[in-house]
Amino acid sequence: MAGTTDVLVAGAGIAGMKASLLLAAAGRQVHLVENTSVIGGRIIRCEDIFPSMECATCMVSPMQQDILVNDLINVITMGSVLSIEGSQGNFNVKVFKKATCVDPVACIGCAECWNVCPVTIPNSFEENLNDRKAISVPCAGALPNVPWIDREHCLRWNGQEECNECAAACVFEAIDFSYQDSELNLNVSDIILATGYKPSNGDNLMSFGWGKSPGIFTAPEFERYYASNGPTNGELTTKDGKKPGSVAIIVHADGTGSFSHINTMYSLKFLHYFEEKLPDVKIQVFLDSSYSPGYAEDRYHERWQDISTDLISYKGTPEISSGSDENLITISCKTDNGDITTQAEMVVLGISMQPSKGTTEFLDMLELNRNDEGFISNPDSTHSSVLSSIPGILIAGCAGGPSDIPTSVTKAAAAVGRVLSSSNRMEE
Ligand code: SF4
Ligand code: SF4
Repeated sequence: MAGTTDVLVAGAGIAGMKASLLLAAAGRQVHLVENTSVIGGRIIRCEDIFPSMECATCMVSPMQQDILVNDLINVITMGSVLSIEGSQGNFNVKVFKKATCVDPVACIGCAECWNVCPVTIPNSFEENLNDRKAISVPCAGALPNVPWIDREHCLRWNGQEECNECAAACVFEAIDFSYQDSELNLNVSDIILATGYKPSNGDNLMSFGWGKSPGIFTAPEFERYYASNGPTNGELTTKDGKKPGSVAIIVHADGTGSFSHINTMYSLKFLHYFEEKLPDVKIQVFLDSSYSPGYAEDRYHERWQDISTDLISYKGTPEISSGSDENLITISCKTDNGDITTQAEMVVLGISMQPSKGTTEFLDMLELNRNDEGFISNPDSTHSSVLSSIPGILIAGCAGGPSDIPTSVTKAAAAVGRVLSSSNRMEE
């Protein structure tokens, strides 16, 4: 085969990691571009994953380790694709890499530098439920376990050039403030877009009372509270530290009338979380009455039918308010049997999956078509789940729409299959 056989994989979540490992196993050089400092994607924020309820760390860690030691996978963290030119077999890709100011070879992840850094800022990885430092890793167990300096907040880039606390604390001399942002030029035969999704944020959920009470959580916030490496080390409490005796899950809090089964199952997973950590808690589950459960939800129900749950099918939008007793959140809604009002000490608001920033950037950069949900459209979904409108540019994971973990992995394998089979055809 003439020309390059390198492949660019954009996004190091579960789909991007799987695609990279499969390509490397087939002998292909991979450039894995990830715009954060760690690989693993959204799955590393979860304790358990649905539908199998497998331990997320147990599933992802071996993949992360394999990627970081694989000579055929060039991991470019803090990277973003600036431009793509050319066509299948010969794409020229320009990648921006942000300077981290930390030598990944010298660093051993000992934490001494961020322990002494005087700058404290909200940690978006933890849904702003705790803080990080201007030099930091996003959470315990992050891989690579190498911090980076956030110049937007570091004192040296904000008028106090004399700050040297982190470098002075690093006996391995891994910190170098002279590092500069850089650009890389890559030539690749194919590109796999595994840029994932972003959850709807709290702003979308303010009409459901988010921000009004320490007992109201978005699903991603709740996920981090449950996680053993999260801000409470896995203790399920309200944000002011109280253990709830009653909880409500508003499964379709961010619904538009067209509800994804993936989003629904994601919220129903929390039944398992409550069973594990608050087995005596009273649980109410609120579902929009226009939602039709599918096969997957039926399986979920079978699995947790022994968990005592009040299921409430509502019409319109529930009203959520905090009363004079700050521990109690009041939920009022219309049902087929009339209006009901109930209370809970903790409320979890389900989210919807939306195109990530990376997915949106590729949609705009490559002028790809959008599907009804705003993700990358597949022009031939009858014959393949991974095609885009441009030959040689493939879609994996949630870049094409909400997917669970098994489907994301399957799509990654299908995208790799397309890459390998197209190169075989080009060789002929
Ligand atoms: S002190 Fe040095 S070796 Fe330790 S985590 Fe920080 S940069 Fe890495
Ligand atoms: S130079 Fe100072 S402010 Fe900047 S990361 Fe290091 S310790 Fe923090």
